[in-house]
Amino acid sequence: MFPFMKLASEIQTLFPELTIRENVALSEATTFRLGGPCPLFIDNPAADQLPALIKALNQKEMPFLVIGQGSNLVISDNGLDCVVIRFCSDTPDIKTDGSRITVSGSTLLDDFARITVEQATGDLSYCTGIPGTVGGGIAGNAGAFGRQIGDHLVSAEIINLDGDVQTVTRDDLEFAYRHSKLKETGEIVLSATFELPPEDPAILRTERERILEFRREHHPDWHETPCAGSVFRNVEASSAAERRKAAGWFLEEAGAKNMTVGGARLYEKHANIIIGGETCTAQDVWQLSEQMKAAVQKKFDLELTREVRFLGSF
Ligand SMILES: Cc1cc2nc3c(=O)[nH]c(=O)nc-3n(C[C@H](O)[C@H](O)[C@H](O)COP(=O)(O)OP(=O)(O)OC[C@H]3O[C@@H](n4cnc5c(N)ncnc54)[C@H](O)[C@@H]3O)c2cc1C
Repeated sequence: MFPFMKLASEIQTLFPELTIRENVALSEATTFRLGGPCPLFIDNPAADQLPALIKALNQKEMPFLVIGQGSNLVISDNGLDCVVIRFCSDTPDIKTDGSRITVSGSTLLDDFARITVEQATGDLSYCTGIPGTVGGGIAGNAGAFGRQIGDHLVSAEIINLDGDVQTVTRDDLEFAYRHSKLKETGEIVLSATFELPPEDPAILRTERERILEFRREHHPDWHETPCAGSVFRNVEASSAAERRKAAGWFLEEAGAKNMTVGGARLYEKHANIIIGGETCTAQDVWQLSEQMKAAVQKKFDLELTREVRFLGSF
């Protein structure tokens, strides 16, 4: 067993302003409200402290995971055996310099999208209403309506696993559909700089309202209904002429919509979103996702790939 508690006091001495909590249920840090305990939980360290904190954890060989708003995660009921750092803030940190906008990785993506509309700094309207942080969004190249956050990123400040800060370009991050290199390396987005395509502010305001209405109509509100968005990635087109096909379509055709396992079931308006009731466990969600996958495999001989990240033991 790793001596997390013993080392917690050493980390606390090095960083007295951090709030380090022991044995925290990760259900409080995810939009699905699922997840067992982690030994140490550090909530929203200041951006200028994060590199030194990562260095200190490395020196003590303490395993760690950085999360954002936890809106793309299902964490095991058994929890995680590592330090969890939540880099997520309700206070947007955004600076504009000419046509370039630099935003902290901890800023909520929808706050960023809203502020770009209010300040008329360019078109990020497609990120309207996407839960999560800018850092989590860049790691998974979040997006909607055929556009994604990586499209307009110029550079990012990344903390590598040794705690050193590097500036990388869009090409370095190897963006693809719901993917960036960060998903493999586990490096952390400290901040990112964007140059957004110009657009008439009035058009952006209308577009934001339209998208908010669309989301209210088609997606569950995670504040009331525990969920983590789409469970499976959409299916890659088999030719350049073909558009990516919605995983939800395959799931619906395969009859997945009425499936339930324990407290987990599918959202009535979207066959690719699992929602949880009061008794729902992470294991229920895992098993339901297995059943959904099996149904599509059987009907279409097609293997769906999970978009939601299941962390820990299942
Ligand atoms: C109702 C609902 C609707 C959704 N709609 C969409 C949608 O339209 N489009 C879409 O793309 N997604 C959607 N999602 C999924 C989710 O919002 C995105 O994947 C989001 O970008 C995750 O960000 P997060 O901060 O919550 O990351 P988390 O869930 O906390 O973490 C996800 C991954 O990112 C990593 N990560 C987190 N922060 C950082 C950081 N600073 N640096 C590096 N890595 C980091 C974590 O280690 C983890 O591996 C939806 C989710 C919900 C609940």
